[in-house]
Amino acid sequence: MGQRIAVLGAGPMGLAVAYQLVLDGHQPVVYEADDRVGGMTATFDFNGLNIERYYHFHCISDHDYLQMLDELGIADKMRWVETRMGYWYQGRLQSWGNPLALLKFRGLGLVAKFRYGLHAFLSTKRNDWKTLDHVEATGWIKRWVGNEAYEVLSDKARRDAYDITLAGQEASAAAS
Ligand SMILES: Cc1cc2nc3c(=O)[nH]c(=O)nc-3n(C[C@H](O)[C@H](O)[C@H](O)COP(=O)(O)OP(=O)(O)OC[C@H]3O[C@@H](n4cnc5c(N)ncnc54)[C@H](O)[C@@H]3O)c2cc1C
Repeated sequence: MGQRIAVLGAGPMGLAVAYQLVLDGHQPVVYEADDRVGGMTATFDFNGLNIERYYHFHCISDHDYLQMLDELGIADKMRWVETRMGYWYQGRLQSWGNPLALLKFRGLGLVAKFRYGLHAFLSTKRNDWKTLDHVEATGWIKRWVGNEAYEVLSDKARRDAYDITLAGQEASAAAS
C-alpha cells in the first residue's frame, strides 16, 4: 500500500520525485520554502512577461523531459523557439554552439580546439555517467580539454553565466 512521503523542495528535482512517487502508488507531500514552485527555474513577473529567474533552455535531445511532458499531457503547451548562440570574446561576438563555430573561433589554438571538440563529442556519446559521480568536475574538464580551452571556454563561460545570473537577479529585484 502507498505511503505518505514528504518531498523537500518543489524545484525540478522535487517535482520529478513527487511525480515518480505517484507513479509508484505513493502519496507525496511537497514542502516548498519559497512562495512559488520551480526552484531555480521558477519565473517572475517582469512587467507582464513571465521570465525565469536564471536563464534556461531545453534541448530537443532531452528525451526523458519530452516524454514526461507527453505523459502529463502538456507537450502541446511547449512553444519551441530555435535559438542561436554567440560568445563574447576578445571584444567581438563570435558564433558558438556547433563544430564549425569552434573551428572558426578566434583566440584559441588549433590543438585546444581539437581537444575541446573531442571532449564535447565524446560526452554526447557517453551513456553511463555513474563512474563520474565522484570525480571532481574542474580537474576532469581540464584533463580532457587542457588549460587553454578550459580558461577560455569553460571558466570564462561560467563567470559570464554568473554575471548574467546577477543581471537577472537585479532585473528580478527591480521588477518586484
Ligand atoms: C544560471 C543557471 C542556468 C541554468 N541553465 C540551465 C539550462 O539552460 N538548462 C537546464 O536544464 N538546466 C539549467 N540550469 C540547472 C537547473 O536550474 C537545475 O539543474 C535545477 O533547477 C535543479 O533542480 P533542483 O530541484 O535540484 O534544485 P532547485 O531548482 O534549486 O530547487 C530546490 C527547491 O527547494 C527549495 N528548498 C530548499 N531547501 C528547502 C527546505 N529546507 N524546505 C523546503 N524547500 C526547500 C528551494 O526553495 C527550491 O525551490 C541552470 C542553473 C543556473 C544556476
